Amino acid sequence: MPTLKPLISPSSVSLTDDDARPPGSVPKGEAADLALVPLLEELTMWQAKLGAEEKRALLVVLQGRDASGKDGVIRKIFGPLNSATCVVSSFKRPSLLELQHDFLWRVHHVVPPAGTVGVFNRSHYEDVLVVRVHSLVPEKLWRKRYRHINEFERLLTDHGVTILKFFLHISTEEQQERLEARLADPTKNWKFELGDLAERALWGKYTEAYEEALTECSTEHAPWYLVPADKKGPRDVMIAEVLVDALEKMKPEFPPADPEILKLKGTIT
Ligand code: AMP
Ligand code: MG
Repeated sequence: MPTLKPLISPSSVSLTDDDARPPGSVPKGEAADLALVPLLEELTMWQAKLGAEEKRALLVVLQGRDASGKDGVIRKIFGPLNSATCVVSSFKRPSLLELQHDFLWRVHHVVPPAGTVGVFNRSHYEDVLVVRVHSLVPEKLWRKRYRHINEFERLLTDHGVTILKFFLHISTEEQQERLEARLADPTKNWKFELGDLAERALWGKYTEAYEEALTECSTEHAPWYLVPADKKGPRDVMIAEVLVDALEKMKPEFPPADPEILKLKGTIT
């Protein structure tokens, strides 16, 4: 059984710095690296079956504050998968054209097609997070988006897309350290944006926005997982466990060979 449990229709969600620490039961350090190996092997095996079956898809949504580890999760967990059937989509500030449409317009066409794993690095949830915190649209509109999102996700699951949503939760201290590390390391400088400090100053406002998004949009068909993400190794293990468990339940199968085709065995010259 995975360590993380899905949030399903919680009456409220409250996020504290303590929730960012992994539970004692999850392996850490080198033990976490070791625990990840068989999980990734299982993931690769399930991905091959999902791709061969070509009937259903898996959509993984990654949300979190700056430096919460979204890129790290993509590298460590999805990097080793077959890139022919695993597609990452990153959601940045919307373009002018995207802003001329409803907020789901840019999302729908990158939903993974049958047979693939899709990873959203940020997602349609930005439209109830950064958009809310910075009042980019009136409250009257962003409030309706919880319903729009739940109905959109219901549409996708009705069409064979399994949705798993992970909120990578880090503490204020951990973000401070990671942002400092970005300044100190020349290979990480590029990740630091001046705006990151302005966003950090809005910590409490983002907390409220995340709490409400997790409360309003944790449904049976598309649950959120609150990932304690202060430690990278345990974070990856806990996410990989959920992915393997979900694919085990989906149980994709290699399609059986057509008997007519099997008759050709040994006849190819
Ligand atoms: P990064 O993930 O560091 O590449 O940064 C992407 C930036 O785009 C973040 O600051 C997001 O908050 C921002 N962003 C993503 N989606 C939206 C959106 N719908 N509206 C406004 N800003 C967004
Ligand atoms: Mg950034």
